[in-house]
Amino acid sequence: MISRISSLSSPTSLSLSNALRQVKHWLWDADLRLQRRGLQLALLAILAAVAMLSEFYVHGQFRDIPGLLNADHVKVLYGVKDVDLSRVEAPIAATLVKASVAAVLFAAVIGLADVIFYHRLVGRPFDWESMINISVVNNVFLLTVLFTFVNPLIEDALVYYDNALSVVPTIVHLNGFVAIIIAGLIADFCYYWSHRWGHKIRLFWNLGHVNHHRSRNLTQLTYPIDPPTLFLNIGNGKVFVLVMLPVLAKVFSTDIHDSGWALAFIMIFEAWTTPSHSVVLYYAELRSGILRALRWIFVTPAVHFTHHSREDQHNISDGCNFGARFTLWDRIFGTYVEPPPYIPATGLFSDDADYCNTPLRYLFHPYVRMFQELRRNNIRYWPAIIFGRTSYDPPVPVRSSV
Ligand SMILES: [Zn+2]
Ligand SMILES: [Zn+2]
Repeated sequence: MISRISSLSSPTSLSLSNALRQVKHWLWDADLRLQRRGLQLALLAILAAVAMLSEFYVHGQFRDIPGLLNADHVKVLYGVKDVDLSRVEAPIAATLVKASVAAVLFAAVIGLADVIFYHRLVGRPFDWESMINISVVNNVFLLTVLFTFVNPLIEDALVYYDNALSVVPTIVHLNGFVAIIIAGLIADFCYYWSHRWGHKIRLFWNLGHVNHHRSRNLTQLTYPIDPPTLFLNIGNGKVFVLVMLPVLAKVFSTDIHDSGWALAFIMIFEAWTTPSHSVVLYYAELRSGILRALRWIFVTPAVHFTHHSREDQHNISDGCNFGARFTLWDRIFGTYVEPPPYIPATGLFSDDADYCNTPLRYLFHPYVRMFQELRRNNIRYWPAIIFGRTSYDPPVPVRSSV
């Protein structure tokens, strides 16, 4: 009787709740796979083309360090504002600009090669829907974090940069080249630990680094950028090159003009290591002893790719190969793992980990999951839920498919 009354009295509310359920299904639960024929195939082709173009753009913006493409910024970077770049520093400035452009173009070509050769190298079809999802996630990142916070901050940082540089003390007087290599090692030490904490501590992991590791279809065109850890990874990216390296170098040398060529060397090397999620470059390393030998010192693409492995032997209590440029710190702290002689499976370690097949779920799933954990557990477990180790499970666990 009651059900009869309710069904008679609220057809509108029923249809509204049905509609809401449908919306939730499409935004959150659905596996948005398109069929490989007819109109759906055409739609997939269009979405994939847009996703690839936007990925080139996003990664170009993210990686390219726009400030370095401007000679005036290069002058500020070296603290040589009054120097005529067309004479004294011209070769260094030109090399830096060319290396920056080369890094972006090389990453784009490698990204395309990854898509073309993925099936042949990995043995699985390329997952186009995953690429489209990740491209939406990365574009949201670009529109929000990069344009709203990072780029304006970098402009401000450059304005005050030469003043800041003048107050940095020099504690030992080394050659500029040596100074910047030492500075690079210190910056990498900071990156190593911020990245390792990003894996170990629930707050940092769930703030977004988990999303960077979610892709089982990892290539140079399908790696999600995680906005929050951009700020945690202080030894990496724009902040590393624009601010940390020159400031740290000043600690070890009064004349950082000498360090220009070392920085140019690092930038050229970055052109090779920037596509660090590439299956094609992984394969190149498998075929070349010279490229493999570089792992003694540098984080090559295969070394970072192995950081994304979900195979048991690479999970040394929550991860391996945390360094950005040098393998030294992973070797010292026992987290270095030699890349296997095949391209390892990537993604999250647990088999019941959520695949997140809609963009919205991809972006917000970790936050929703942590919120559910807090809601379902007593307040005395909250510190452990927020600041505990990533491996911690609260008394009332939340299934990965919340
Ligand atoms: Zn990581
Ligand atoms: Zn990565």
